[in-house]
Amino acid sequence: MVIAAMALLALTAAAAAAAPPDAHADPAAAPLAVMPPDLPDPAPTPTATPTPTPAPAWKTIGHSVKGRPIKAIVFGDGALKVLFIGGTHGNEYGAPLAKAFARWLLAHPGGVPEGAQIHIIRCQNPDGLWAWTRANARGVDLNRNYPARSWSSRLDPRDPSAMMGLTGGSRPGSEPETRAVLRYLKKGFARLVGLHSSAGLLDWNGPGAKRLALRMSRLCGLPIGHLGYQPYIHGSLGQFFPERYGKPAITVELLSAKLTRGLRLALLAAARR
Ligand SMILES: [Zn+2]
Repeated sequence: MVIAAMALLALTAAAAAAAPPDAHADPAAAPLAVMPPDLPDPAPTPTATPTPTPAPAWKTIGHSVKGRPIKAIVFGDGALKVLFIGGTHGNEYGAPLAKAFARWLLAHPGGVPEGAQIHIIRCQNPDGLWAWTRANARGVDLNRNYPARSWSSRLDPRDPSAMMGLTGGSRPGSEPETRAVLRYLKKGFARLVGLHSSAGLLDWNGPGAKRLALRMSRLCGLPIGHLGYQPYIHGSLGQFFPERYGKPAITVELLSAKLTRGLRLALLAAARR
């Protein structure tokens, strides 16, 4: 009998050891350590996402006599390529205006006219901008250094650049700043807009240029016209571009560095069909 009782006790103990945990225990009362870890979010279903277009960024296209970079930026990918060039003369409003125009386009990616591709060279003459001079570091007026038919190293005495003692360079395209633009022009532009100051007018040259200047004039209020000393200029970009490419060139003679709404609309109009 004692043996039987001991055997029963042993069986009871074994059953207790093998008993499953209480199925009715409150899960909230369980210690945190044994809570199941959070399951990771299910992997997202892969979808075909378009490759994002990289944001426009300034790229170096050449260097000045003193090694300063000449930079350009591109907006849009349309077929109508239009080039804006600021800061050919370092002591004018062209460079700050070109920068302001680029800033506006960076902030308004939808602002590029449909079908257009806007290229902006911020400052063709960074040495001149730094020193606040018209010429580059070698005393060359870059806007007299282009290989137009009229090029001459010695400038006409009636040209204000000659009165300042500047030259057209030792040969057409002798200056690295000019060559940087000449290389860039090979991209094939339908129009060119040079940003200068401070005559307060829109000068035009080349086929269709007058019509384009009139369209811009209506928006910004600057009259179309020519500089008084226009006939005495040798080797300018405004002469070279239509001669070489048969396309219109507009020279904006600004009155300030401020990108007014009217001026912005006029510049954008230069990039409309
Ligand atoms: Zn100028």
